[in-house]
Amino acid sequence: MAQHQGGDRRVVVIGSGPAGAMAAHELIRNGIAVTMLESGTEFQGGLLVRLMGRNLLRKVPPMRPNDGFTVSGDDKTNWHMNLAPGGLSCQWTGAVPRFAPEDFTEGERLDARYRWPISYSDIAPYYDRAERLLQITGERLDVPNLPAGTVAFPHHLPQSWQGVAKVARSHGQGFTVMPLADGPQNMVARRGTAFNSFTAIVRKLMRSPNFQLLTGAHALQLEWNGEKKRVTAVVFHDRANACKRRLEASAVVVACGALSSTKLLFDSACSDFPDGLGNAEGVLGCYLHDHPREWWSFELDKPITLLAPAAYLTRLPHATSKPLMANSWTLGVVTTKDKILSRFGGQGKTVGVQVFGSMVPKAHHRVRPADKKTDTFGLPILDICIQFDDEVIANMVRARGHLMSVMEAAGYRAKLHDVVPQLFPGSAVHYGGTARMHGSRQYGMLDARNRIYDVSNVAVCDASCFTTSSEKNPTLTVMAIAARAAEYLATDLKRM
Ligand SMILES: Cc1cc2nc3c(=O)[nH]c(=O)nc-3n(C[C@H](O)[C@H](O)[C@H](O)COP(=O)(O)OP(=O)(O)OC[C@H]3O[C@@H](n4cnc5c(N)ncnc54)[C@H](O)[C@@H]3O)c2cc1C
Repeated sequence: MAQHQGGDRRVVVIGSGPAGAMAAHELIRNGIAVTMLESGTEFQGGLLVRLMGRNLLRKVPPMRPNDGFTVSGDDKTNWHMNLAPGGLSCQWTGAVPRFAPEDFTEGERLDARYRWPISYSDIAPYYDRAERLLQITGERLDVPNLPAGTVAFPHHLPQSWQGVAKVARSHGQGFTVMPLADGPQNMVARRGTAFNSFTAIVRKLMRSPNFQLLTGAHALQLEWNGEKKRVTAVVFHDRANACKRRLEASAVVVACGALSSTKLLFDSACSDFPDGLGNAEGVLGCYLHDHPREWWSFELDKPITLLAPAAYLTRLPHATSKPLMANSWTLGVVTTKDKILSRFGGQGKTVGVQVFGSMVPKAHHRVRPADKKTDTFGLPILDICIQFDDEVIANMVRARGHLMSVMEAAGYRAKLHDVVPQLFPGSAVHYGGTARMHGSRQYGMLDARNRIYDVSNVAVCDASCFTTSSEKNPTLTVMAIAARAAEYLATDLKRM
């Protein structure tokens, strides 16, 4: 295994999920050498056979249960993670809406602690770069509260849903095709998702002489050098040889997935930072947030064109909503029969809906090292403390009635079916906020370029950096922020 000396501007990127892959992509593009450490050993594969836009066969690799955490909030709390090349993008759905400009500013109305240090225009160019890699299916038009992205495969809503779009507009909402990283109409691929960050990004980087991937390399600790006031190496467990190794680095990008990155910073405690690397203000692990999620279906009194691809009803306007309290609705088909019919423009009466809500991130919703239990490396596992409060739940319940009323106003009587109980933390797999960006170190670990305030050669690039959550799926925004952070890092390293 090659060992690199610190002087060569090499960046160690930890994690090959969408965040790490995007950061590595930008570093390589900017001429910076990268060694990527990936805890997983082999790519999980799967199978996707698609003809004329119809998935004939789709086999997604199973998610392994994760019991490496304790819970001190809602006892149903779950934490999905996937220690494998490509991370959770081996299993994800691929919904990739952009955040709206107001998603970065609405929290300010509540309190200064909810002010992002970056704006939509700061990351718009990076959205574009990520979207080109994601090969998105969707509409090319802006709708209220959802800017259009760079779409590779345009699709339009069926004509019979235009009445719903009109009613949505009267509420200040958009109704459009869900932007999905779904790739071309025809494909045969040995993976379960059209896009995953390993095959779409990392494998291609392996052609570059500047890029090195170490699989089976589980990062245990970032090594702080008190004299140099920076991290100088990453210590990792080498699974193949069952031993500890150390890799020198000019800079480090931490992209292990929201909670795992936070754990790595806690595990990197040292005499200068006894409560976790860079955790001078005690903010590491605080402000955990997630998307409350519900799934339900409804029955119409008359048939309507079945939705393929899925449609997306955007949130109610920021100006008239309570800050950080919103919903999004993704509408699609439910039964296998309808899935097949939908590809031929068929009609049906049943519509399935996934609703995401948002929550105000609170300091007491947090992760921290558990008191007694340790992981296989002898490091403390995480304790997760989060709970959806009454206001969050009420917002989800209101979301049901709102969509029913939109359908009614569009001329369809709609009857709500049973709601599948999924209103517990972790169900959406969208945790964020535990190493957040903020203009003040009192409220955040990271500055506006994702660097740890007191550890300026470490950038944290996954959803742990989110200052607040919006009701939109996070991964596209994670990728855009990672690309931006990597570009700043490359610029700084070139000046060295
Ligand atoms: C079923 C499902 C559907 C989803 N659908 C969507 C969707 O439609 N839209 C959306 O935006 N999001 C969706 N998500 C969430 C999405 O998958 C994640 O937001 C995204 O993968 C996060 O990317 P990441 O790179 O930050 O983390 P991850 O994908 O979790 O990747 C982290 C990587 O780091 C590695 N790693 C972790 N710890 C270490 C360590 N100590 N050392 C070395 N390597 C390490 C892991 O092996 C992994 O490769 C879905 C998730 C699931 C499970």
